[in-house]
Amino acid sequence: MSSLIKPGELFPFCCKRPSLLFTKLHKRMGYFFDDGFACPESFAVYHKSWGIRMKVSEIGEFGLIERLRQHLQEPDPRVVVGMGDDVAVLEGPGEMLLLATCDIQVEGVHFLPRLITPYQLGRKALAINLSDIAAMGGIPDFALISLAFPSDTEVKFMDELYRGLKDEADEAGAKIVGGNMARLPERLAIDVFLLGRVERGKALLRSGARPGDLIVVTGHLGDSAAGLSLLLKEVREDRFAPLYKAHLTPKARLREGRILALKGLATAAIDVSDGLAQDLGHICDESKVGVRIWAERIPLSPQAREAAALLGENPLKWALAGGEDYQLLFTTPPKRADDISEALSPTKVSIIGEVVGQSQGRVIIFPDGTERELKPEGWDHFG
Ligand SMILES: [Mg+2]
Repeated sequence: MSSLIKPGELFPFCCKRPSLLFTKLHKRMGYFFDDGFACPESFAVYHKSWGIRMKVSEIGEFGLIERLRQHLQEPDPRVVVGMGDDVAVLEGPGEMLLLATCDIQVEGVHFLPRLITPYQLGRKALAINLSDIAAMGGIPDFALISLAFPSDTEVKFMDELYRGLKDEADEAGAKIVGGNMARLPERLAIDVFLLGRVERGKALLRSGARPGDLIVVTGHLGDSAAGLSLLLKEVREDRFAPLYKAHLTPKARLREGRILALKGLATAAIDVSDGLAQDLGHICDESKVGVRIWAERIPLSPQAREAAALLGENPLKWALAGGEDYQLLFTTPPKRADDISEALSPTKVSIIGEVVGQSQGRVIIFPDGTERELKPEGWDHFG
């Protein structure tokens, strides 16, 4: 008797002409569903939302997340922030709130073994999870590692992977406390589950940006995508070392996240994992605001510009849609903006735009005055 069961899920064969079969069956099958299944209006609703034989690629990663979110909407007093932020924020046993996150890396999708060593992969798998804790202003504590891999994987590979995981955890003050493993033919998948904590009332959420706030980002954007582009084209030159490093062993901005949280300097925050356009879009969605960003203020490193010139690419595109930069992107009231570079020093910070009302949309302004819609063209895992 659950409304989660849709007619098409029970009758996949009827998807081509659902209405015909529906008219015959709806009265008999109505008892499977919650109220109103038998009336024409609700049929239209169910018809549209069946999703039967719809491929995940048709709705994309974020369409799928939104769909799954509908299954998990019941409020629970133990859940402070559920789906929709960098991590789940949960009531803890003491004064602190618990932070929980997980992120998977799949061979051939997120990494290519010919481009990354197992040691680097271990570091990166943990770092991308640490980055989500950083985006909340939290402290990482404990990690569990789930691994799936072919049975002919070399033991040495696993040793190196774990050496990388441990070094990254040690640097962040976190501890790996267990996990599990399974056999998977042909490829490796590594999923890290990470627990952390943050003081009550201090978590940096995506939902706090207000019109008038300034938009700030740490470090450079686009370096990781530049590094990947070079590696894919087998360009390995010393001058591009920071770009390879940004892609292969990114660093979570844990220190910066803690400072922002404890000093109350940010109204909203996220880590840039899917590209500036996509991740700023998440702040807009959750805060119900619009944004105006200035293209020439987006921090591109000299190395990324050089790499773009060499490869005939546009470095701005790497910044907007490349992803995997793991910088912190946050909003701050203008009166706090001066405090930020001092508070986060020596980390570079750049003010790249301002928050506006939701009705003003999401806009990027180019130096010649042209304005374009800031489209979320970052990394969609299924699109
Ligand atoms: Mg994130």
